Amino acid sequence: PSPGTPVLEVDHAVKRFGGLSAVQDVSFTVNSGEIVGLIGPNGAGKSTLFNLITGVNPATSGMVRILGRDVTRLPARTIHRLGVARTFQHVRLFPELSLLENAMMGGYARGRAGMAQSLLHLERREEAALQQAALAALQRVGLQDRAADRAGNLALGQQRLLEIARALTAEPALLLLDEPAAGLRYGEKAELSALLRRLREEGMTILIVEHDMDLVMNLVDRLVVMNSGQPLAQGTPAEVRANAAVREAYLGA
Ligand code: ADP
Ligand code: MG
Repeated sequence: PSPGTPVLEVDHAVKRFGGLSAVQDVSFTVNSGEIVGLIGPNGAGKSTLFNLITGVNPATSGMVRILGRDVTRLPARTIHRLGVARTFQHVRLFPELSLLENAMMGGYARGRAGMAQSLLHLERREEAALQQAALAALQRVGLQDRAADRAGNLALGQQRLLEIARALTAEPALLLLDEPAAGLRYGEKAELSALLRRLREEGMTILIVEHDMDLVMNLVDRLVVMNSGQPLAQGTPAEVRANAAVREAYLGA
């Protein structure tokens, strides 16, 4: 998509669990080439919103569109195939497998072979293409020299980078990151920030949930702030910092 066109549109999204409204009438857009931050205290509904976008949980009402297409009722696999890839709050890698094999896992849903089918069932030609995509993804995050290492040997910061590489193997239109800086040391956070800036320069579109306010405020183009399921504010980091409701409810200032 050309820069500035909507990649993700969340339109009056509501998610209820029994009597609890985990997401209550939330609307926002992420445009092509933008990094948008999704912030809010614990229980705000951020993960629930990620689950609506990725098809893990369907919305109770409202709509989610990817590249203009209504994906509200589509299954997670289909949404992944349409170009939405994510990382998880708690790293989910295969420690016994190589970095390359882990990165290749991100591409299965895009090919004819689904996640349920293993590497063994891929045709040789498909496997070669997938391996190329995975190597390119490892290169983008700076882990190409360790492609043959076991993922379990990586430090946490590198595991997070590998998770991003796995998501990039799918060549997504939208990258969703769930607290990618959690547990990282200062230097690792700086490396992560630099990577995300580089990806944006290459045209990637990113929605990031992150609690590290320094990192978020210095990285994102715009922010969406949630509180107890409600949309509290949206805007540039400067606008959000100056917002009285946000200061009171969240930033504690
Ligand atoms: P955040 O990620 O912002 O911390 P969540 O989206 O995880 O918040 O949770 C929002 C609210 O929805 C919380 O009150 C949480 O307990 C509730 N919730 C989340 N998932 C479920 C579920 N599967 N069933 C019932 N309640 C849930
Ligand atoms: Mg969460």
